[in-house]
Amino acid sequence: MTSQAARVLVLNSGSSSVKYQLLDMRDGTRLAAGLVERVGESASRLTHTPADGGERSRTGRIADHDAALRAVAEELARDGVGLDSPALAAIGHRVVHGGPVFTAPTVIDDDVLAEIERLVPLAPLHNPANITGIRTARALRPDLPQVAVFDTAFHTTMPEHAARYAIDVATADAHRIRRYGFHGTSHAYVSRRAAELLGRAPEDVNLIVLHLGNGASASAVAGGRCVDTSMGLTPLEGLVMGTRSGDVDPAVVFHLERVAGMGTDEIDHLLNKKSGLTGLCGDNDMREIRRRVDAGDPSAELAFGIYVHRLKKYIGAYYAVLGRVDAVVFTAGVGENAAPVREAAVAGLDALGLVVDPELNAVRSREPRLVSPAHARVAVAVVPTDEEMEIARQTFALVDA
Ligand code: AMP
Repeated sequence: MTSQAARVLVLNSGSSSVKYQLLDMRDGTRLAAGLVERVGESASRLTHTPADGGERSRTGRIADHDAALRAVAEELARDGVGLDSPALAAIGHRVVHGGPVFTAPTVIDDDVLAEIERLVPLAPLHNPANITGIRTARALRPDLPQVAVFDTAFHTTMPEHAARYAIDVATADAHRIRRYGFHGTSHAYVSRRAAELLGRAPEDVNLIVLHLGNGASASAVAGGRCVDTSMGLTPLEGLVMGTRSGDVDPAVVFHLERVAGMGTDEIDHLLNKKSGLTGLCGDNDMREIRRRVDAGDPSAELAFGIYVHRLKKYIGAYYAVLGRVDAVVFTAGVGENAAPVREAAVAGLDALGLVVDPELNAVRSREPRLVSPAHARVAVAVVPTDEEMEIARQTFALVDA
């Protein structure tokens, strides 16, 4: 790869959407970003934002992922940063599930693609769409390196005692049942940026990273390596999320089958789509929940209370797992923006060295920052995540080697 080619196109392909960003890895500039929604429907929509702002959008049927990527290519060409440019070094694909196989970003060939397909039973909603995106991009630029960056990879360093469920080993192994973890690209990016913020090498810091978006997960990171994370076989385990329950007694499922007569798909839908904050109070947006809490709404108060209680339990658990904690780091939509969540999550944890400074916590910024007072034993930080930049960084590191 010549040093001229330093652009990376990042693709995040969902079942009916394609999110993309074009990044210049010499200086981290964002050359373009956009989203194709409702692919395959009559009212598809492409929203494209070039480097200088000035969003453009077009509507009308975009039949499939191939048509979506061609439409994206046209928009990029209009900005003079087309996919045929020699400056394009690689395409980096977000792939949700890498199973136990993929522990690092991987250049995609036919064997890698076949292996990602073998992992479809572990991520039936996500991996097929990711695969479609990869196939389409390979067809468009067969000569270009295409790299898969896995959401699970950062968590493959978890020791067996954290990654295994305490169930019959033969059954678990036969069906690849273990804790994989997700949001790994975000946890990796945020851990590195948090170490920079603390002015220390990643190998020297122990962190609890709280990725609180619509999906939410916590991880314990020791010296740059993940040693535990809250999501498991699927993204359902762990924290209370926008629409997912997080941890429940697995016997809830049998109870709903036996007593409520519910089927497997119905329970799956209940726990993944109709639970969490939505199930508790009818809203999944933390802004709206806080507005209702401030207005004295009891169901919003209960939802907020359950959300924060679960967070606090994970902070305590990961404190114990790590032994020494240098920082608790908040990221993603809720973590970056909801000061009341950060304040409530560490309230009463002074004995663990965790304190939030109300003035610093109230500051709104897109920059990584500390929200704990200068004398705090453990830093509390906000680090905005950037999964696309991390995918591009990992992709470029592989092809520029
Ligand atoms: P994400 O999945 O990271 O895009 O996060 C989306 C979630 O972040 C939304 O559902 C909201 O709950 C939350 N969020 C976004 N902006 C704010 C804000 N200004 N204050 C509180 N919560 C926010």
